[in-house]
Amino acid sequence: MSVPGVKRLRLHKTLGKQIEALHRVRQPQARLQADPIEMPRRYRDPLDIEVVGLLSATLAYGRVGLFKPVVEKILSLCGGSPFRYVATFDAKRERPRFKGLYYRFNRSEDFVSFLDRMGQVIRQHDSLGRCFLSHYREADEDIGPALSGFIAALHAARPDALSRGLAYMLPSPEAGSACKRLNLYLRWMIRPDDGIDFGFWKAIPSSKLIIPLDTHVIRIAAYLGLSRRKSPDWKMAKEITEALKRFDPADPVKYDFALCHLGISGDCPLQADPEKCEACLLREGCRRGRRALRRIAS
Ligand code: SF4
Repeated sequence: MSVPGVKRLRLHKTLGKQIEALHRVRQPQARLQADPIEMPRRYRDPLDIEVVGLLSATLAYGRVGLFKPVVEKILSLCGGSPFRYVATFDAKRERPRFKGLYYRFNRSEDFVSFLDRMGQVIRQHDSLGRCFLSHYREADEDIGPALSGFIAALHAARPDALSRGLAYMLPSPEAGSACKRLNLYLRWMIRPDDGIDFGFWKAIPSSKLIIPLDTHVIRIAAYLGLSRRKSPDWKMAKEITEALKRFDPADPVKYDFALCHLGISGDCPLQADPEKCEACLLREGCRRGRRALRRIAS
């Protein structure tokens, strides 16, 4: 084996240990308030959680403090059971209650159409989970085909064309999108309950998940050499997931929460900060971290 090959293997082993340590030490409970999963975590009934989860995940773009009030407002309209509200949703009756509600790319009619589509799918399949599972095949390499089928069902639930805002909420892997927020939802529904994720859809193994390609994950994955791709699309999400499988083939996406919150918390800032790198568990497996350590030592 060549010397660079040995060096690469050593770095890879180091990174594996460090990323595992990061996953173990980062305290998810302390970070829940800064994560959209806090909203579905308020509910007990899995059917409510599926509905609130999809709503919270699809609107999880921009800062938590900005999209949370919009989700809160919609939840306040849902009453005690978001599942029952959505399953019996009547767009004509409910439309006036959404008047004036908007969030960045999304207008009130997007929310009405979204809830109406969810309601149609629930009436057809009994729940969002059953709809998703009806599109899943064990032979699928990953969750992509099932997600495409699920999204196609939501698109087809109403005859009218998708608005731009709604198309942004409901992208499909078929079009090459990284589907960050939908992969986040799938992580919540499929990964085992560890105090963060819920593990409701047990028929699907965690190994089929694809990492939600959050801006912090993209940046930190590049520092760690997990992807060389430039375009933040489905291919990049797959490549990073494959790289994480080297550390845990059965559950590669378990690292997502820790990596993402390393960025959200400011512990891995956009601007290089040698002091933060010195304190970071990933420093020896991280290109930028190693550079910072060399600078400190010189
Ligand atoms: S070592 Fe520095 S750049 Fe690398 S992940 Fe940690 S804080 Fe970020």
